[in-house]
Amino acid sequence: MPSLEWGLWPWPFFDASHEDLARRVQAWNADNHDLSHPDMHSECRAMVRSLGAAGLIDHAVPRGDAPFDVRSVCLIREGLTYQHALADAMFAMQGIGTMAIRRFGTPEQREQYLEPCRKGERIAAFALTEPETGSDVASMTTAAVRDGDHYIINGAKTLISNAGMADHYLVTVRTGEAPGAKGLSMFLVDAGTPGLEVGAPIDFIAPHPAAALTFKDCRVRASQLIGPAGQGFKAAMAAFDIFRPSVGGAGVGLARRALHETLAHTDKRRLFGKSMHSLEGVQMALAEMATDLEGAALLVYRAAWAHDVRGERGAYEACMAKLAGSEAAGRIVDRAVQLLGGQGVTRGNIIEQLYREARPMRIYEGASEIQKLVIARNLIKNSLPQA
Ligand SMILES: Cc1cc2nc3c(=O)[nH]c(=O)nc-3n(C[C@H](O)[C@H](O)[C@H](O)COP(=O)(O)OP(=O)(O)OC[C@H]3O[C@@H](n4cnc5c(N)ncnc54)[C@H](O)[C@@H]3O)c2cc1C
Repeated sequence: MPSLEWGLWPWPFFDASHEDLARRVQAWNADNHDLSHPDMHSECRAMVRSLGAAGLIDHAVPRGDAPFDVRSVCLIREGLTYQHALADAMFAMQGIGTMAIRRFGTPEQREQYLEPCRKGERIAAFALTEPETGSDVASMTTAAVRDGDHYIINGAKTLISNAGMADHYLVTVRTGEAPGAKGLSMFLVDAGTPGLEVGAPIDFIAPHPAAALTFKDCRVRASQLIGPAGQGFKAAMAAFDIFRPSVGGAGVGLARRALHETLAHTDKRRLFGKSMHSLEGVQMALAEMATDLEGAALLVYRAAWAHDVRGERGAYEACMAKLAGSEAAGRIVDRAVQLLGGQGVTRGNIIEQLYREARPMRIYEGASEIQKLVIARNLIKNSLPQA
């Protein structure tokens, strides 16, 4: 693996703690862990434990009421994706699958769930998407009906990361306080709850543990509601506010790896009697890849900095970071494939692997079109004269 040289430290977004953290992420080197396991679930469990032991999940599930440092989350995701995209996914899911407990949960829920997830001893999951509604979250139909001290959940979720290996699921369902998004609530449902069934694993183009969930008269205590009824959309979106820019960070990590691998290849590959990277056309491509990468990185760390330092909760920068990082990853990896020629499309080649890993980023946590809608709405709103 090429060494990850981050040239970020002179940027005004960071302080010494970030440089130190980056070194720790580099020290967590996927190559130094025995990740060879008979199945993906045991591999992922081992990875989560290892990330927990390294203290990295502390940044996805901060202790006590410590604020999220989104720059740290982005840096970790960039560094992990550079090494092993699955490790990044495992890191992110521990945060996304606990965020609402941390923010809206009772002291008992926080006590019971957060520390084991932080240590990597429990696996978290977040279930929003349904077979008929992905982007249009407010139209979901999985419903919970109150029955005394309980709620009974019926419906289905799909494409749920960690389904089948998670110890708990944060499930957003319709409780009907109001139409649309205002009638949704979030429940904490433990794995193994009667009525919760996990479907067959979903075989994505890049390794990623996921499955569908079915709820058949699944009875949960009313105390498993996270926050007040009707606030489920808000609870779900709270996770996206923090984690959306970090998808951009993951995209930047993947793109950086693709660029470094391409540089190594064009250095040693000879074409027409000379080193490939001495060809001007190749240099143009490398320059464009690097510029694309650094532009995306700037947007990612600007969004993270705006959150951490200026206390801005705006979706504008967060969505732009997600859009820029994931789209740049797609473009850069595609160019890397082209520069590697036949090797780039040979199964098992690192660039082929990155190509498959980059593609889902433009779809999950809000497809690129959803990010653009939010960016445009903010742009239009802010362009109107202030009353
Ligand atoms: C690897 C992976 C992991 C995932 N993990 C989880 C998870 O843990 N939990 C979870 O709940 N979900 C998860 N998902 C699901 C993911 O969030 C959805 O796939 C995503 O929200 C898009 O929903 P959809 O697939 O139903 O596509 P649809 O909503 O059917 O949209 C299809 C396409 O339409 C386009 N589109 C959508 N809206 C608009 C619009 N307004 N204007 C123009 N074009 C539009 C977009 O290009 C989009 O890709 C995961 C998905 C993947 C790929």
